[in-house]
Amino acid sequence: MSHSRSRREFVHTLALTAGLAAVLRNGRAFAAPLPHLDPTDAMAKGLGYVEDASKVDPKTPGFGPGKVCENCMQINGGAGEAYRPCKVFPGKAVSAKGWCKAWAKQI
Ligand code: SF4
Repeated sequence: MSHSRSRREFVHTLALTAGLAAVLRNGRAFAAPLPHLDPTDAMAKGLGYVEDASKVDPKTPGFGPGKVCENCMQINGGAGEAYRPCKVFPGKAVSAKGWCKAWAKQI
């Protein structure tokens, strides 16, 4: 094998590895949709999670107008998606219109 050929193969392998790493980092492209968080789940109940923030009693501590999962700093995923991953509930998707007591303002 010539020196230039092995170098070319090395560069090719490097490019494939970098491409694979990028795909793995952006795993959302291949990830199955997450199951929706069940509001009756023990942790969800403990944090008062609801799928529709408009149904939260306005006197609930920590709740306030305009506070929804969609503008919480714990939410991941893409804007405009109805259900998105939440850092507080790993492996589950929460309603963008929902709310829970762990809500925190995005900075
Ligand atoms: Fe919604 Fe934020 Fe609670 Fe997650 S932590 S369920 S995004 S309010």
